[in-house]
Amino acid sequence: MTGMIEGGCLCGATSFEIENDFAFLLFCHCEQCRKLSGSAMAANLFSTTRTLRWVRGEAHVTKFRHPDRQFSRAFCNQCGSALPFEGASGRFVIVPAGALEGAPQVTKRAEVFTCERANWELGQAPAETFEGFPTYFDT
Ligand SMILES: [Zn+2]
Ligand SMILES: [Zn+2]
Repeated sequence: MTGMIEGGCLCGATSFEIENDFAFLLFCHCEQCRKLSGSAMAANLFSTTRTLRWVRGEAHVTKFRHPDRQFSRAFCNQCGSALPFEGASGRFVIVPAGALEGAPQVTKRAEVFTCERANWELGQAPAETFEGFPTYFDT
């Protein structure tokens, strides 16, 4: 038994803990994950210990399951942050990596569905870097 790791949403309405022992971390570039995350990819940890415990705000957790396909998502109904959920197969609890406080224990990491990478994604299209906002942000 390793320790527990905590996580939660941005607004603080929800928090959870789960055993800090993940089977793998997938960075998924597929079109569906881009839609669900609103970003270039989803970063999801897969837990086979499935020891998820809601510490606070479980009533704020809203779940979405695609009616025909294996796409699910859970989010805070106050701030929209991505939250953990039980996968449709029942084999995994899926934890959005950005929801965690601290460092998850995971050795297998993979990028998947790279053939569906967006053409605007970093690495595909060049981008300038800044430590804060660029000057043109101030309007
Ligand atoms: Zn929230
Ligand atoms: Zn995906």
